[in-house]
Amino acid sequence: MLRYFLPNEYAKSVLEITPDQLKNKGIKGIITDLDNTLVEWDRPSAPPRLVQWFEKMKQSGIQIVIVSNNNEQRVKSFAEPLEIPFIYAAKKPMTRAFLQALKEMNLKKEEVVVIGDQLLTDVLGGNRGGFHTILVVPVAQTDGFWTRFNRKIERKLLHMMKRKGMVYWEE
Ligand SMILES: [Mg+2]
Repeated sequence: MLRYFLPNEYAKSVLEITPDQLKNKGIKGIITDLDNTLVEWDRPSAPPRLVQWFEKMKQSGIQIVIVSNNNEQRVKSFAEPLEIPFIYAAKKPMTRAFLQALKEMNLKKEEVVVIGDQLLTDVLGGNRGGFHTILVVPVAQTDGFWTRFNRKIERKLLHMMKRKGMVYWEE
């Protein structure tokens, strides 16, 4: 059961993930979380570094869809100026929104990576859906109310996975 919470990979930031790295694994599409994965949960728009990252991915032929549990206003106002497709109120870890994104990209599961900062929503949902998963360090130290609650469970899961020798990265 624990293995459902274990990401395939781990990155300090999305900015560390390069198009070549993904292409070498046969990845052609990214499903990414928004809050605390791309930017701080309370930052309304993308900083220039992140805009460049999106551009690089697009230029390399890698499609991106933002899949967020946050509301329409938050996700739309972030994603629309970047012209990135998005799904809001995604209800992760339920897999429906991921499958919807997959359909929009017209790719196979094996060609898509799910990126996010939370084990309980992004990684669990991505794994259950059969996607490659990458966990990133949350951009901000602060969180909204429900995320704070999830983090407590997350820390316990990480602790358990470490004890079982399932975690190979340093914190
Ligand atoms: Mg998040």
